[in-house]
Amino acid sequence: MNIAFIGLGNMGGPMASNILRSRGNLKVFDTDEKKLQRLASLGAYAAENIYDAVHDADVVFTSLPTPKVIQEVAVEANGIINSMKSGGTLIELSTNNLECERILREAADSNGINFLDAPVTGGIEGAEDGSLIVMVGGKGGVFEAHKPLLDIIGSDVKHVGPSGAGYVAKIAQVMLCYLHSIALSEAIMLGAKGGVNPDSMLDIIQGSTGKSYVADRYGPTILDGTYDPGFTLGLAHKDMALALELASSVGANLPMCQDVEGTYREAVQKFGYEQNHLSVVKLLEEANELQLRSN
Ligand code: NAD
Repeated sequence: MNIAFIGLGNMGGPMASNILRSRGNLKVFDTDEKKLQRLASLGAYAAENIYDAVHDADVVFTSLPTPKVIQEVAVEANGIINSMKSGGTLIELSTNNLECERILREAADSNGINFLDAPVTGGIEGAEDGSLIVMVGGKGGVFEAHKPLLDIIGSDVKHVGPSGAGYVAKIAQVMLCYLHSIALSEAIMLGAKGGVNPDSMLDIIQGSTGKSYVADRYGPTILDGTYDPGFTLGLAHKDMALALELASSVGANLPMCQDVEGTYREAVQKFGYEQNHLSVVKLLEEANELQLRSN
């Protein structure tokens, strides 16, 4: 089976490495030469362009930043769908919206290509050790045929419904992560303003009803001031904007989602797209004139 992987960033890089290790051959492409060469140094074929990567592929994976980029890479004239052979499968792993899903699915259908939306959760650690949760939308038969491949990148690979259902599940899941990040920082701030040191506050939260993955994993990176490298503020805001867009298209009224989207938008404007995602907490720290730090 010929496999190609497009987009070798924080998530795509380690997922591609795992597929390469498991299957022995993989063609890869990324517009960032350094990321391309990192995979080449592990034994992947570094393609010169999309066509070179995918023209003889049976399966193409993509892990790309935004719906705009995904659409360009997948459906433009020299893009994936026009370059793949009929009968192949495109597995799209990014966090994406339903408009882009429709465009990709229709283009894939008219070229005789199978399409699965298969966004992931579990962060860089999950991508590195192959323990992601993969939420797959698409035809059941196509899912079953490709599950062994998806099992390489994930330890919990679920078929959640027809095409688009994977993206819906991912957006709902990831929205909670950002709501939770803001709620966690406000709880620590309230304690700190009242005189409880942030370490004690986080410790109490981790052992109480407020316990969460977000507190376990992100809390320490707020208190050490690194704000969790591995995911950008810009992509976090993209996820919140996707949640608002999805809420509007399915008629869901989500007041907290609206507030938190506004907070992330302001943080991107103030601190920049490429900052670490928990830099959003700096807005709260500035408003309270107090940095949440370990003592
Ligand atoms: P990233 O920015 O690190 O990686 C994206 C990669 O795409 C980069 O290497 C970039 O050079 C490449 N790229 C951009 N335009 C391209 C093009 N035209 N052709 C080929 N390559 C191109 O982002 P990431 O953190 O790896 O996230 C990827 C996707 O996964 C996003 O949709 C994100 O929302 C989602 N996601 C990320 C995480 C996380 O923790 N980082 C977790 C779950 C889901």
